[in-house]
Amino acid sequence: MATPKMHKGTILDKKEISPMITWLKIRCSDEKNFDFRPGQFINIQVNEDTYRSYSICSEKPGGDIELAVLTGMPGLGANYIKTLKKGSSVNFVGPSGRFFYHPPAKKGVLFVATSTGVAPFIPMIGQALEDPSVESVVLIFGVRDREDVFFEDKFKKFLEMSPKFSYFICLSGVTDGLKPPYFANRVTFCLPDFVKDETDFYLCGNTAMIRDCSDIINKAGLEDFAIYTEAFNPNL
Ligand SMILES: Cc1cc2nc3c(=O)[nH]c(=O)nc-3n(C[C@H](O)[C@H](O)[C@H](O)COP(=O)(O)OP(=O)(O)OC[C@H]3O[C@@H](n4cnc5c(N)ncnc54)[C@H](O)[C@@H]3O)c2cc1C
Repeated sequence: MATPKMHKGTILDKKEISPMITWLKIRCSDEKNFDFRPGQFINIQVNEDTYRSYSICSEKPGGDIELAVLTGMPGLGANYIKTLKKGSSVNFVGPSGRFFYHPPAKKGVLFVATSTGVAPFIPMIGQALEDPSVESVVLIFGVRDREDVFFEDKFKKFLEMSPKFSYFICLSGVTDGLKPPYFANRVTFCLPDFVKDETDFYLCGNTAMIRDCSDIINKAGLEDFAIYTEAFNPNL
């Protein structure tokens, strides 16, 4: 596994993929085929002595580094990312982290994310779909409104790749008038339908969502399951 070290990179591409989220593609200058383990993140230097962690959402390791960053709210990292243009240089440390896909998985693999918590799942879903022990891979993705949905093109690509895959998008700010795969509620509304034995659960996003989902899973009386989590705001 690649060990974290300091790198320089160049912004190859950048676009707003929702009103809140900016997608970036970074070419690592000293390691063109940047290696990482799906689930890992990099720490970008956002000012002289401050770094912010961003999970790698590239579909596979060994190429450019893609990130999905929350830029719709003010913050040190968000403000810095907004200043970057195509051709800008960035300093970063990585790859880092121990939030990995655990093969061979159980029969079912369930990914639950809110907002940019879906980023590490992009390469991890690819791994789960290739895992012969897995029969079903489900993604439950929560954002506030329809306009906040991003990466649905990637989810549709997974649908085309494999009949094992399905996804559900929970819109917490919408009350009705939605058709599947959209649901008018929080991820905790969709989750109970998928809480079954022989499932590996991966939860990523804010601490409150991880706590609420873990409670639902732990109280379901399952015998054979595992929960793996990554909190984006671990200090709360
Ligand atoms: C392992 C890991 C992986 C992560 N992966 C990602 C990822 O893939 N994508 C991603 O976007 N984030 C990710 N994060 C979170 C990320 O590292 C930052 O913590 C987060 O994006 C907020 O950073 P910031 O510097 O923009 O905000 P900060 O400056 O740290 O501010 C924190 C909060 O305070 C609010 N705030 C700050 N200033 C103001 C102000 N003036 N007025 C009102 N509110 C304010 C901000 O809106 C923000 O919500 C990850 C975190 C971890 C630990």
